Amino acid sequence: MKARIITSLLIIIFTIISNGQSKIKVSLVGSVDTTNTEINNVFNLFRDYIRSNPDSTYYYDNPYWDKTEKLEYLNAGSPYFDNASGIIFRADTKANYIFSIFTPKVLSIEKLDSNLFSIKTLFYSNKYAEDPTYGKWNPYYITKHYCVKKEGDYYLKNAISYETSFWNKYRYNQIEYIVHPSMLFDSISVKKTIKFIEKTCQRYNLTIPKQISYYVAPSSEEVGKLFNFTFNISPFGSMANTHLFRIITLGENFNNIHEITHLIFNQAKWNDKTRPFIINEGLATFLGGTKGELPFLEELKIFSKEIKQEKDLTLNSIIQRKYSHDKDNNPIYITGAYIFYKVYNKHGAEGVVSLFNCGKTDFEFQKMIEKLFNMSYEKFNVWIIEQLRQESQNVRYQHNIPVQRRGSRVSHIGLYIKRYC
Ligand SMILES: [Zn+2]
Repeated sequence: MKARIITSLLIIIFTIISNGQSKIKVSLVGSVDTTNTEINNVFNLFRDYIRSNPDSTYYYDNPYWDKTEKLEYLNAGSPYFDNASGIIFRADTKANYIFSIFTPKVLSIEKLDSNLFSIKTLFYSNKYAEDPTYGKWNPYYITKHYCVKKEGDYYLKNAISYETSFWNKYRYNQIEYIVHPSMLFDSISVKKTIKFIEKTCQRYNLTIPKQISYYVAPSSEEVGKLFNFTFNISPFGSMANTHLFRIITLGENFNNIHEITHLIFNQAKWNDKTRPFIINEGLATFLGGTKGELPFLEELKIFSKEIKQEKDLTLNSIIQRKYSHDKDNNPIYITGAYIFYKVYNKHGAEGVVSLFNCGKTDFEFQKMIEKLFNMSYEKFNVWIIEQLRQESQNVRYQHNIPVQRRGSRVSHIGLYIKRYC
């Protein structure tokens, strides 16, 4: 998949550069008027933030970020407070490495009102600009952060509340929908979402979340703005933030059951578990399809046909991404969902919860599979794919999975976007 290839290439770049840890250079274009004291203060703040190892160090003490917002994120269990961090520093890439390759250049600092500024920054590599391979992944991104001035001091802030200040807001039960003004609110889908939450929480004995923020954005670019980007090398799709109970969905999807599933299964009693990717995404796909658009069982038929001739395919080759798609995560999502489908039909909701909480290691996952399917993992590794291959003929609606089919107004812009969670 594209984002994974990009991440791998970036890691290669990081390993071949010298291990320089000198101060990160932060430059600016000529039109940023640092003779203006306020603009100069904002520039210095952002430069110091970039140099403060924003990937890892002193999160709670970081002096450059608005304290209230910082605590809101960290106290909710989020591993970062800068919404861009979850994208920039994934795969454990370190700030000093990234910023020494893709050096930050401030493109603009705008004063928006008496105490509010925006900062737009390009992350570009001169070194790799002309490289036939790495040059394709350059520039890496352009960020847009906000900055507030409080009693003469300056603090950075996430863009999301400012970028959506003019969006329409609707409340239905515990969900607040924040909808881009270009989009029509779809109350029928919203009612289906409420019903899905109630039914699923009842079926799996889950506590209904008190509050969900559900953002509906019309394009990948608009989604990116909510993560402090105006450009990113890897386009944005729909995402759920389970710490903040926040969904950001791409396109007119007011009933993204896939992302809703991520949130409602994020139970406080289970929070200490980190699950294998196939488990996290398998469950969300089982209940909500790969993108919250088509029902899983329909996607299953398509995938089953796809792998009909793939005679050597095993579960492990899918988990290890030896078999994958360039533009989506369907093989691992649908295979994971299929395992949950089989577990549900064999053990009901209790089996699904057991598998979901199998543990974080491969060993724990395999032990749970052996217990639920009463066969060795070695055998299951081949058997489950054989079963999957037969589903193009066999799919029966054995389980009333409450997934909505999207209406005619569906935008398919997100169909081939790599999702991050
Ligand atoms: Zn997901």
